[in-house]
Amino acid sequence: MKRKVWPPFLGIVGVLFLGFTWTMGVPLETFFFAVPAVALITLLNLRTVRFCNSCGATLRSQNAFSKPAYCSKCGAKLEQ
Ligand SMILES: [Zn+2]
Repeated sequence: MKRKVWPPFLGIVGVLFLGFTWTMGVPLETFFFAVPAVALITLLNLRTVRFCNSCGATLRSQNAFSKPAYCSKCGAKLEQ
């Protein structure tokens, strides 16, 4: 269940953050800088967070560029 909710959730958080930044009345240049920054953070979150099929644990990789291969709670192999 979490696996299906996670990507849209991250997207919504990103959009809300941008909306919040917008309502703060930041300069347009700052806003245009914030858009790719939020997109990048969202993508990194999508890449590094995995959910265990066996126990449902939420696993965050220590390395932003590699996915965890095994569940740190129950040791089950994770789908890549
Ligand atoms: Zn597990």
